[in-house]
Amino acid sequence: MIHHAIAIDGPGGAGKSTIAKELAKQLSFIYIDTGAMYRTIGLFAARNRVSGKNVQGVISLLPYITLEIRFIDGAQHMFLNGEDVSDKIRTEEASIYASDVSAIPAVRTFLLEQQRAFAKSSNVIMDGRDIGTVVLPDADLKIFLTASSEARARRRFLEQKAKGLDVTYEEVLEALKLRDRQDSSREAAPLKAADDAVIVDTTEWDLETSIAMVRRLVKERLDV
Ligand code: C5P
Repeated sequence: MIHHAIAIDGPGGAGKSTIAKELAKQLSFIYIDTGAMYRTIGLFAARNRVSGKNVQGVISLLPYITLEIRFIDGAQHMFLNGEDVSDKIRTEEASIYASDVSAIPAVRTFLLEQQRAFAKSSNVIMDGRDIGTVVLPDADLKIFLTASSEARARRRFLEQKAKGLDVTYEEVLEALKLRDRQDSSREAAPLKAADDAVIVDTTEWDLETSIAMVRRLVKERLDV
């Protein structure tokens, strides 16, 4: 059976996961958040006091990592060696660790087959940085979702405030910019739009409008 795949890439805070999650619900596709996988490896490195920039150190940890994605009430949960770390991977520290470890080619290879396997067995919407360029180059639809760094920082800031985290807008903006720079300039699968991706800029749109626009692209391309 042939499965459909939708790839959504773009920088942090562009709304990828929120939009992908909602669309997956509407289409009854499985939503795979690949950033959560990098975050989990980052968390494991942090817990073992290995810097995310320590390439050999991080590589030596990989054999001790079993990642598992389980769907609980329709939501993706990340399990690290049997422990549900879904909330623990959402801190600013985990974001930076994720960005650091994701620049290591061996880490990307470690995750690649697992990511592709999802698309072999189900209809998927997958989000990340390199889904359209590397993971699923044959995806039916590739979207590169972006927005100005200020708009993205504002959204991320409000999200974190709502969770009760103690951060300032400036801190969030700086952290996002750092991650954008790191993710775009690395050698291994840098953040960039695939040649055949549709670029969607959500700077001026609220969430509802963004979802409707992406939904329309999906309908045009996949007829679902
Ligand atoms: O999407 P999210 O912000 O959760 O991703 C965390 C980090 O993981 C990103 O900053 C990026 O460095 C890395 N990542 C990646 N490739 C992906 C998804 C995420 O390199 N496909």
